[in-house]
Amino acid sequence: MSETVVAAVRTAPRTTELREFPMPEIPDDGALLKVEVAGICGTDVKMYAKPAIDAPVIMGHENVGVIARAGRRFAERQGVQEGDRVFVEHYVACFNCEWCRLGEYRHCEATDWRTNPDARRYGYTSSDNPYHLWGGFAQYMYLPWNAVTHKVPDNVSDDEAGIVTPLSNGIEWALFDCGVGFMSTVLIQGPGQQGLSQVVACKQSGAALVIVTGTTRDAARLELAKRLGADHVIDVQQDDALGRVMEITAGKGVDVVLDCTAGAGTSPVLLGIDALKRRAGTLLVQGELAAFPDFPLKKLTEKAITIKSARGHSYRAVELALAQLASKRFPLELLTTHTFGLQNVDRAIRAVGGEVEEDVVHVSLLPWKE
Ligand SMILES: [Zn+2]
Ligand SMILES: [Zn+2]
Repeated sequence: MSETVVAAVRTAPRTTELREFPMPEIPDDGALLKVEVAGICGTDVKMYAKPAIDAPVIMGHENVGVIARAGRRFAERQGVQEGDRVFVEHYVACFNCEWCRLGEYRHCEATDWRTNPDARRYGYTSSDNPYHLWGGFAQYMYLPWNAVTHKVPDNVSDDEAGIVTPLSNGIEWALFDCGVGFMSTVLIQGPGQQGLSQVVACKQSGAALVIVTGTTRDAARLELAKRLGADHVIDVQQDDALGRVMEITAGKGVDVVLDCTAGAGTSPVLLGIDALKRRAGTLLVQGELAAFPDFPLKKLTEKAITIKSARGHSYRAVELALAQLASKRFPLELLTTHTFGLQNVDRAIRAVGGEVEEDVVHVSLLPWKE
């Protein structure tokens, strides 16, 4: 094994530098992951443009790799061996708080950079910290005793494993948070990797009707939504979206609306409120907007709508996403459209942001790709 590890480090907003770090000495309760795939999502686009911290950061928070070295206690505690392929959650849990005990590491204070400046989260934590390798845009990543790992089934390719995160979010938000299930009717706004993953989660859970919206630019993604099981797609720039939803549902509206758009302002939430059924629908929101002028609170309460927040995934959602991928029921490999090597991290993030490349759905960083 080489003496150094190459990593792509974010050194300033929209600036990446390749740097070499010493190969870490692995303690008895730690491990080293050889990174095979680091998925990239809309959060990377935001964090690249407006970093949460000024310190240098190895980004990459959706990481899959092979255990290259494992200390004895790490192997025992985690039930893994050198050579095992694992998905590593980006939350580095404390395993002590009520949330960690529930497998809800996303809510653990030790992982939350918003309220805890010393939080540990892959892709967000400063590379000045001991062991340095705290992100997936690198040849190797350091795993402490409290990394959260999931074994990846053998029949799931590295590329497919790269979409575990959006699929986990799909299961968490649609099924666990919004209660999508047998015969549900659902409107999914935005046909990116997250919206398309919701299509799969909803169809698998027994939804009777899945409608997906997008823009004219999303034509290829809307086609993909149909191949994954969407019953109807709507181009919101060509069609009257609300009129179409009401026509499709015979005037009833839908049970659940999932907002998976990015940069669309207030319109998805406003459409969502109108497209929900007369009473007691559920709306999943992203919270991109710090403020919402003229929010129709009266309409929301009159319709008795429940709002849920899109907020990562639990341990169980990841396990179910891996099982879904292993089942091969849906052609999820169609989502994995673009891959880049370590020297092209900047371009890879800009591809997700829609600045470069065509027909991007999901982008993976493959650190060992030339
Ligand atoms: Zn992500
Ligand atoms: Zn905790």
